[in-house]
Amino acid sequence: MLPAMSDAFLRHIRATLDEIEAAGLTKRERLLAGPQGGRIRVASGGGARDMLNLCANNYLGLADHPDVIAAAKQAMDGFGFGMASVRFICGAQTLHRELELAIASHLGKDDAIAFAACFDANGGVFEPLMGEEDAIISDGLNHASIIDGVRLSRAKRYRFATCDMNALEDCLKRSHADGARFKLIATDGVFSMDGTVAKLPEICALAERHGAMVLVDDCHATGHLGEQGRGTPALTGAGDRVDIVTGTLGKTLGGGMGGFVAAAQPIVDLLRQRARPYLFSNSLAPPVAAGALKALEIAIAADDRRALLGDHARRFRAGVEAAGFTTLPGVTPIIPVMLGEARLAQDLAAALDRRGVYVAGFFFPVVPKGQARIRTQMSAALTAEDVDFAIGAFADAGRALGMV
Ligand SMILES: *Cc1c(COP(=O)(O)O)cnc(C)c1O
Repeated sequence: MLPAMSDAFLRHIRATLDEIEAAGLTKRERLLAGPQGGRIRVASGGGARDMLNLCANNYLGLADHPDVIAAAKQAMDGFGFGMASVRFICGAQTLHRELELAIASHLGKDDAIAFAACFDANGGVFEPLMGEEDAIISDGLNHASIIDGVRLSRAKRYRFATCDMNALEDCLKRSHADGARFKLIATDGVFSMDGTVAKLPEICALAERHGAMVLVDDCHATGHLGEQGRGTPALTGAGDRVDIVTGTLGKTLGGGMGGFVAAAQPIVDLLRQRARPYLFSNSLAPPVAAGALKALEIAIAADDRRALLGDHARRFRAGVEAAGFTTLPGVTPIIPVMLGEARLAQDLAAALDRRGVYVAGFFFPVVPKGQARIRTQMSAALTAEDVDFAIGAFADAGRALGMV
């Protein structure tokens, strides 16, 4: 029998769940009955339905690439299933070092350090580098993991309205007036809800003028944006003026899991000594490290996939706009179809589901109130016919619901 205290606690938790439900904000997870891809099998009743997938971060379609799978299998044979240790105790495997050096070389940095996820990379990167005499200046739309990582550091915090360069400069001046020793500007390379690209050349110019460093979280760019997939620094021409790049292996680079920080040698060296999610967490599983390494190798050479991804993005954007929907302007494969009220996003998502198109509605608190949307993401795993099918489904569903 449960003690009374526990009963009261579970009632309290259930009341919170009821509030979430009553506000229409409960997130319900669907299940895939097969690999991630352009076309997926979605578990339904006792069986599965074939659907077209417009909501994965599988930008280059590498999540089920046969060479990635083969590399992972081979690593399992050669290196086993797991490391069962943090790195400062048992060390890593040659595979992990190979992966880190490949990432560093790809991004033009001295070295890189692998984490279990980019959430951990962002959670661990700020605290060892920035002390209480220092300032971290963060874009207001940054990813939750940056927000949490910045909170864990003792640095003074400044926040600017997203992509507003005047507001950024104001923060730089204020941090200077407050006597900051070192200043670090932190921004997403691509803002995942809007698909917009950070103004890195302007940010880097302001950083130079005010003696600040720049950290870019390039999770939605590494592998598929910029020359050879070098991400937003390459795409925008900011290049190596970006000091620190954080990123993920859980999106374009095979979509397995893992994150990294790439930077100058002393920065990476200090993170190995002090970054808590690195020090106190297991190494990446060998098949994951090997699969990501292979995915990176494929991505670097995949100009064909990057071109197809760009074609799909332009085609889809033009198609849904011609059908009467409103999208946010942008150049990335993230195309948000703006709907306003949460209910409209949910209704359209359900109507698209019935038409075989797999999407997700985003609404408050994930995006601001009144800016509910269906965020679509293109993938090189889709064909042009798939994209046309998706446009047709949006048009048909939108008409059926009286939205367009
Ligand atoms: C996905 C994402 C993360 C988290 O990456 P994981 O490796 O899945 O933990 C961090 N930052 C941004 C901007 C992201 O889009």
